[in-house]
Amino acid sequence: MTDPATPPEPEPPKQRPCPLCGKPRVERYRPFCSKRCADVDLARWLGGTYTIPAAETDEDDIVPPPETRRD
Ligand SMILES: [Zn+2]
Repeated sequence: MTDPATPPEPEPPKQRPCPLCGKPRVERYRPFCSKRCADVDLARWLGGTYTIPAAETDEDDIVPPPETRRD
C-alpha cells in the first residue's frame, strides 16, 4: 500500500558543505572547511581570478627529455 498524500519530509537547516572542496565546514572557518580553503577563496577574490597559493604548485610535470644523442 502506498500513501501518495505523504508530503516530503521537511529538510532541516543542515549545514552546507565547504563551497570549495565539499567537505563539512568548520565553524571557525565558515563557510569553509579549513583555513586553506578560506585563503584560496580570499586569493580568488583579491586576484580576480582563481589563483591557488604557491603551496599547490606541482613541478613534477617538468620531465626532461631522455638523452638520445650518440657520439
Ligand atoms: Zn574546503
